[in-house]
Amino acid sequence: MSDNSKKIENVIIIGSGPAGLTSAIYSARARLEPLMIEGEEAGGQLMITTEVENFPGFDHGITGPNLISVMRKQAERFGTKFITRNVTKVDLSKKPFEVTVGKEVYLAKSVIVSTGASAKYLGLPSEKVYMNRGVSACATCDGAFFKDVEVGVIGGGDTAMEEAQFLTRFAKKVYLIHRRGEFRASKIMVERSLKNPKIEVLYNTEVTEVMGDENSMNAVTLRDTVNGKTKNFPLQGLFLAIGHKPNTDLFKGVLDMDATGYLKTRPGSTYTNVPGVFVAGDAQDPIYRQAITAAGTGCMAAIDAERWLEANH
Ligand code: NDP
Repeated sequence: MSDNSKKIENVIIIGSGPAGLTSAIYSARARLEPLMIEGEEAGGQLMITTEVENFPGFDHGITGPNLISVMRKQAERFGTKFITRNVTKVDLSKKPFEVTVGKEVYLAKSVIVSTGASAKYLGLPSEKVYMNRGVSACATCDGAFFKDVEVGVIGGGDTAMEEAQFLTRFAKKVYLIHRRGEFRASKIMVERSLKNPKIEVLYNTEVTEVMGDENSMNAVTLRDTVNGKTKNFPLQGLFLAIGHKPNTDLFKGVLDMDATGYLKTRPGSTYTNVPGVFVAGDAQDPIYRQAITAAGTGCMAAIDAERWLEANH
């Protein structure tokens, strides 16, 4: 239930990765006093990344959690307010918009959605154990740490092809591990992978276990999906490229999204189909998925929201 005596925020930002925090910095500096609902696991995918070496401005790199921490301080310095809880419901059919957190309802003239995406994992307990100790879901982020070693990439889509090719710049050998006999990826991407002398494809193969010592992984168990036979296989790195899931369930049936759940924007902007609701970062980006591109669209969303508020309120 909305409460008429309640404060109406200029902008509520949902999600606290680089997209949300950048939109908070910009909208706070525009004196909009944004309210960020940052989630209980604040910070997004960077919180599970070790070294970030490709974010401009940090010549010696920075860890993912530190990068989030400095961005958050910067947003706070200009007056962003934070709520460290998860949004449970949104009602974008009402004006002001309603954003519910448990029993609390927050009202807003505009909303920036920056809920991000999550990499899909196999779901093995051992994969969790070796996360960031050999197991990664982002070759662009972590590939450079795998110089002259043998690594595996799991998946048969375009991401797997791209990541496998990228990893050949560093790794001695890349095993492309796919559960079926044919790839889902586009022909040209498959051709490039098959032509690359450093890539070897393991068809009809699943990883059922990740093994290692207390420092890092050093082997996996492979299962042949045709005859069920298993074997241990030495590998120093394992990259998951089995897809991402945008965190957009809250907006189903309300905001336009593609079949996977990525929110659609008006081209060249962060406008969604609901006026006053903007989206930034991985929740709308199946292609680039980088911290810097998320931050860039976060800036766009804040500017879009500011101008929209100016024209409509
Ligand atoms: P996809 O959904 O296209 O592919 C996921 C792959 O992972 C599939 O081959 C799937 O196998 C496999 N997989 C899924 N779950 C498991 C599991 N539990 N165990 C083992 N394997 C699994 O995701 P992508 O990230 O590759 O691509 C997403 C979208 O982005 C696509 O539309 C793609 O075309 C696009 N893209 C485009 C690029 C470009 O054009 N440069 C680059 C990267 C992505 P199976 O085939 O058996 O289902």
